[in-house]
This record gives sequence, structure tokens and C-alpha cells, in this order.
Amino acid sequence: MIRPSSLSIAKFCALAPVLSERYPTRNAGTDRGNAVDAQVTASLVSGAEPADADARACVEWFREQFPAPRYRIACQKRVTLRDPDTGAIITEGTADVLVHDTQDPVDYVVDLKKREQYDAGRLADPDENLQLHAYALASTAEGRSYQTYLLLFGSGRAEPIPSKIYTAETWAPILTRIQEINERTGEPRGESGEHCGQCYPRIHCPQWALRAYRGLERNDVAFNDNNGADLLLEAKAMEERAARIRELAKHKVDTDGKGIRVGSQEYRRIMMSGQMTVDTAALERDGLYERYARVGRGFASYKLCRPRGK
Ligand code: SF4
Repeated sequence: MIRPSSLSIAKFCALAPVLSERYPTRNAGTDRGNAVDAQVTASLVSGAEPADADARACVEWFREQFPAPRYRIACQKRVTLRDPDTGAIITEGTADVLVHDTQDPVDYVVDLKKREQYDAGRLADPDENLQLHAYALASTAEGRSYQTYLLLFGSGRAEPIPSKIYTAETWAPILTRIQEINERTGEPRGESGEHCGQCYPRIHCPQWALRAYRGLERNDVAFNDNNGADLLLEAKAMEERAARIRELAKHKVDTDGKGIRVGSQEYRRIMMSGQMTVDTAALERDGLYERYARVGRGFASYKLCRPRGK
């Protein structure tokens, strides 16, 4: 059984969900995103006021758009999508927010997403988002005559990205597609492509390692109209491999309690003096920010992010 959150990458590569399962990703961005989600949920369930500004904005939007008692809101609901013929489980997961309109035959399925995922362009829009489709199919299984809207709420945004309207007819081919992807994950083979840039556990994938080696073997780098994605992904693979080796070296030094000799030098742990920080908000309030805190002007940066106009 495949997880709903793995469906989007699994449509390209059957190995990615297997690696996600084996090597779950956790970082400061996911931790903060989870904290925001938890505050949104607690607030929608109990009415408590969220402390986090992103969570507050999200809850305000919900209260305005879906006032009680007309709308019934359920949070963190476990949903299961089954094969309509055999009853076998295709996928199972937890839908962030489900909204039911008690006056009109309309349901809303909302997924709360982390700010970083949105900014990096890692999120498929609602009409392409198989995770949301799976939640919707599973949660509206008994009410297929209903219309369903899907909403993708990236934290820090003023309002969610809406989908088109889904009805019983539009769901049929989507269910077939999800079933096919689930069946393919039985034979997990890595299929490398531009989608690898959106694969969280890629550092553990042999295909991704091959990209790093291809990059190292290249003598000349020349961009043309067709090879930009390949070259950038090779660069990413090499950077990530180097970062991983450094991480492992730090771990070895910390666990062995001694350094690693590199010729006449030694790689070891040393203490650096800490940096002083300032409360920039207070400085700005007092009109002192420009004088004491700004260390430079805006500058151009080049990185992978959400395409323009999306
Ligand atoms: S890095 Fe690419 S080939 Fe490897 S598991 Fe991820 S998507 Fe598949």
C-alpha cells in the first residue's frame, strides 16, 4: 500500500516511496511546518487562538469562509481508499481538514503545506496533486454525488490555491491512475529524471549517486538549450554528496573522540567564538535598523524555486 504523500513522486519513480518509507525526512522546515499545522488543528477543533502568525492567518481564513453551523469541519481525519471491486486498501492516510457544507451538496478537502515546500515549487497544484485526490476520493467515497473542491494551503499564504470542481465522473479516471501507481510500487525500480530534484530521500538512491559521478566525469561544462536541467541536477547531486560525506566525517570525529589525519593536517572539532545577535524588530521600531543591523542591500540569487506566475 502506498502513502498518499508518495503518490506524486511515485507516478514517475516506484523506488522513491520505498526510500521515503526507509529514510523519513526531518529538518527545521518540516518541524516548523508541523508545529503550524498542529496549531491550526487545535484552533479549528477547540477555538484556541494560535500563537504562530502563519497559523493565525490560516485559521482566520477558515473562520471567514466556513462559518458554523452551516459548515462542519473535521481535522486530522484518518481516511482509507479501497478498491471498489475487491475492497483491498489502495492507500491510507490522514487528511488535514475536511469541510462539509450542510446546506449544499459540496465538500472541501484541504491540505496544509509547509512554506518551504511551496516556495521551492515542490507542490503540485490541486488539480495535479494525487495526494489531495486520494484524500478526496477516500473521504467522499459514500457521497460520490457530491461536488468536491480541493484546497492547497501553503503556510504563510493569505489564502489557499483552489481546484476545479470534482464530480463522480471526474473521479473515475483518477482512481484508475492511483490504482496503477499503487500496483507499480510492487516492483520498485529507480527511474531517474527531472523529478529527482523533488525526491526527498534521493541522497540514498543509486541513480542520484550516478548523477554525481556523471558530473565528476564531465571535463567541459557547456550549457545549450536542452541540457540545463541535467547539468543543474548533476551539480545538486555533487553538492549533496559532498555535504553527506562532511556530515559522516563529523559523526566519525564525534564518536571516535579524535580527528582524521589529512596529510599534515587534521580534521577535528574546534570551538568558535559565538556571534552576537540583535533584536532587529526592536531596532527597526527605534529607527536604528539601517544604522546598526543592515549589512548589505538586496542582491540577486540563483536557485530552484516555484516558476513565475504560479
Ligand atoms: S532520486 Fe530519482 S531515481 Fe532515485 S528514488 Fe528519487 S526519483 Fe527515483
